[in-house]
Amino acid sequence: MSEQIYVGVDLGGTAIKVGICDAEGRLLQTFEGPTEVAKGPDTVIDNIENYIRRIVEESPYDWSQVAGIGAGVAGFTNVKEGVILLAPNVGFKDVPIRAILEERLGKPVKIDNDANVAALGEAWSGAGKGIDNCVCYTLGTGVGGGIIINGKIVQGFSGMAGELGHIAVIPDLEAIQCGCGKMGCLETVSSATGIIRMAKDAVERGDRTSLSLLEDIAAKDVFDAAKAGDEVAVRIISRAAFYLGKSMAAVAVTLNPERFIIGGGLSKAGEFLFEQIRETFKKLTPEPVTRGVSIVPAQLGNDAGMIGAAGLFLRS
Ligand SMILES: [Zn+2]
Repeated sequence: MSEQIYVGVDLGGTAIKVGICDAEGRLLQTFEGPTEVAKGPDTVIDNIENYIRRIVEESPYDWSQVAGIGAGVAGFTNVKEGVILLAPNVGFKDVPIRAILEERLGKPVKIDNDANVAALGEAWSGAGKGIDNCVCYTLGTGVGGGIIINGKIVQGFSGMAGELGHIAVIPDLEAIQCGCGKMGCLETVSSATGIIRMAKDAVERGDRTSLSLLEDIAAKDVFDAAKAGDEVAVRIISRAAFYLGKSMAAVAVTLNPERFIIGGGLSKAGEFLFEQIRETFKKLTPEPVTRGVSIVPAQLGNDAGMIGAAGLFLRS
């Protein structure tokens, strides 16, 4: 066997997930172990090294077949230098992870942030397979993004490209402050946090809604109530969908992607959410820019991070 393989590492706060991919982006083998953040960065780095060695040892592949190792992490990264600048989840600050792992493992290493890596995974072997220009949104606690143009991640001048959750799309009168410090960012409305906030506001205002019966409100409760016809919940989800569609209209005239891919916990709401996003997108985007453009759910789920990290070698 002389086939080359690529190792992808999804470095999370609880678990480190490691996957082996072939050159087509097929996930061949996975391993998951605890991150052990509490033990400090040295232990986390030891764990990354050990898990990578272990997955290859336990696989039918030989260490010599490993063409490269990629890693994705939630936080700020200096991709060119291979340094994790700040990743609070894993307790890393200014960690030159590429240099450390390259020295220990003797293989080339690349890193990027989790949103870019997940986008690359989807573009490479998920919902964007075979498509060279796509933009990915991850709807979770916040709104993450990643842009793939001509098959490669767009980094921008200082690696900040694709911060789609911070497009200031909410009108001034309705805008609230975002975690980033600015007003009116998409993620203040179109994330789980935003949906929960709008629901709690409605309950506090005394709006008539089934949500007022719940002790604590999760984003899924709001979707369920909306699907059951609760008018307040319908309005909240419509608002979240509207601003997603509006942000896509801006992205579409800027980058002209062929496909928008939406992943993350909220995307599980399915067609109920997607139809509304598509409707707004079509309403706000010049027709020639929408032609042939699709808005679809992500396919890889939690594997996108591992696959995309492995793909850093071929697609970044
Ligand atoms: Zn923001």
